[in-house]
Amino acid sequence: MGSSRRRRSLGLLAAAIACVGGGCLGIGPGRSGPEDQAPLNGETKPATEATRRLQEVVRRSLPFDDDRDFELARRGRLAGRQALRIPADGRPGSDSLAWDMTRYAFTQGEAPETVNPSLWRQAKLNRIHGLFEVVDGIYQVRGYDLSNVSFVRGETGWIVIDPLITVEAARAALSLLNETLGERPVVGVIYSHSHVDHFGGVRGVVDPTDVASGSVRIVAPEGFMEHAVSENVVAGNAMTRRAAYMFGRLLEPGPRGRVDAGLGKTTSMGRVSLLPPTDVVRETGTTLEIDGVEFVFQNTPGAEAPAEMMFFLPHRKAFFVAEEANGVLHNLYTLRGAPVRSGALWARWLDEAIALFGEELELVFGAHHWPRWGREEALDFLASQRDLYKYIHDQTLHLANLGLTPLEIAESIELPEDLALRWYDRGYYGTVKHNARATYQLYLGFFDGNPARLDPHPPAEAGRRYVELAGGGEALLRLAREAFARGDYRWVAEVVNHLVFADPGNRRARWLQADALEQLGYQAESGPWRNFYLSAARELRDATGRRAPQGSTSSPEVMAGMSSESLFDFLAVSLDGRRAAGEEMTVELLFPDREERWLLEIRRGVLRHSARRAVTEPTLSLRIPRDRFLSVLRGEAKMPALLRTGEARLEGGLVALARFAGLFERFLPDFEIVTP
Ligand SMILES: [Zn+2]
Repeated sequence: MGSSRRRRSLGLLAAAIACVGGGCLGIGPGRSGPEDQAPLNGETKPATEATRRLQEVVRRSLPFDDDRDFELARRGRLAGRQALRIPADGRPGSDSLAWDMTRYAFTQGEAPETVNPSLWRQAKLNRIHGLFEVVDGIYQVRGYDLSNVSFVRGETGWIVIDPLITVEAARAALSLLNETLGERPVVGVIYSHSHVDHFGGVRGVVDPTDVASGSVRIVAPEGFMEHAVSENVVAGNAMTRRAAYMFGRLLEPGPRGRVDAGLGKTTSMGRVSLLPPTDVVRETGTTLEIDGVEFVFQNTPGAEAPAEMMFFLPHRKAFFVAEEANGVLHNLYTLRGAPVRSGALWARWLDEAIALFGEELELVFGAHHWPRWGREEALDFLASQRDLYKYIHDQTLHLANLGLTPLEIAESIELPEDLALRWYDRGYYGTVKHNARATYQLYLGFFDGNPARLDPHPPAEAGRRYVELAGGGEALLRLAREAFARGDYRWVAEVVNHLVFADPGNRRARWLQADALEQLGYQAESGPWRNFYLSAARELRDATGRRAPQGSTSSPEVMAGMSSESLFDFLAVSLDGRRAAGEEMTVELLFPDREERWLLEIRRGVLRHSARRAVTEPTLSLRIPRDRFLSVLRGEAKMPALLRTGEARLEGGLVALARFAGLFERFLPDFEIVTP
């Protein structure tokens, strides 16, 4: 049964998708030698013949005449700026914009050969921006950031749902709303979930003193604060670097560069803020009245986000799906890196939503993309998205139980047509391939069971051996260029990677690798896949590219929201275990501003913290306000200066302090990815 599954014949589209990954056997331009190829150099290249043919297959296979999404994405538009540019607070010069939609003006008309036509379609949809009426009393500003911000009209003011990533973007969206519909105060905020594109702009729509005085309520699902700050901190530096690839932050917008992230254009770049909730939703069925409007919540943790909720607005029969039903196949695994999500749980929450609200709802709207109006269409959308995640989850395990390994599953899993041919189920953000591999990982881990892959050499070591096997670098390059000429870019990427890791100074290897990844980027339907490929190509061609400005997933304000426990978890991760292996130290840390006293203990290369343990002659005792301690950790303040001004006080001597500080590493998001 397993082998018949493996051999199942693929339809035209599936063949195209398999080819996007590489192969392309049979539709490539045919065999040719390196002598008739264009010279290797560090320039970006046009689409190859193999890529052009593949885009043509996509064009013929998908229902491009179905343009209902364009109608939905434009419906109810009330206002918008012609040239949408949002300045960043306090950032002068060329890098002065938090958001600039004008740079995507090129996404119109027919897809260029360097962009997958399906992604191009999504890019055009995601460029439609402005203020939209969802239904009387419910509005959305879309296209001001990666996410949507929604507004519900209460008796006296606005209730804001998911205030974008940055203060600048959220403030601009609120002014568009107030200018168009009349000035009203913000009386409530709802964070649907713990991802930064749903809370980071909160200070752009509310003043913290109004929250403190009780005139503005902030509602969030249980576990919100913990996950909003922790998910991005302990592994934050690695995620930040990878997120720069995923959202194409190193790329210029253009037909050969950044086009779209699938979920939205990209992320705004400005000030990220966080205000803790005043009201926490703990269970499904919780009903809150905010400014005279009733909200009925469904708590849905552990699917798209560790803390997330959807809700129903009975007065308009409108259901807010948060980020659990979108105009894309979402991520069970996000390429920036995060714990894998369960497709089964995701499907269960959507199923529960249909059961709870399906008979009443007349429309659904969400945190990304455009609404679906009418009960029939809305329910069809929810049910299709539900089955999408369930299919990937169940069939991955089905194939795993037949003995297929992650790469084999990714290659053979195929959505039924009723899912695959709906635009909103397409892999613009997540992909069936990487979600299937993630599902395998969720249940079975990274190891595929074959001990040949249990303990392989690391990349540079393996690289040297593969290059030797190929008969040297020149021989490997010659073979790889033949594969390139056949359009087998996946294979080029795999073999030339060995040469790049064995000999990172080999410019021709880097250029060929860049050329192969570039074509894979042009072919990709997923925005993050394209961004990953093209970011890598850029860095291979220009090693200084990785020093381009990059946003961090953990802003000072987000870090300030961390519990001290999480802070020490992060500190423990920052400890260089090798350096600390021979050290034994105890450090008493006093945060007078929070009346906290902590004992940190370093032994055997491990940092442990406790609030309870008694102190017997610590090596050091340091008294410092917690926010100043955070500034030191972030490299924004220096401990000696704080000691001089008396902001910090120390017992135990500067030498011991220097020894302690010397055990930690400050992480910078500029490490190598595509080279050793
Ligand atoms: Zn989001």
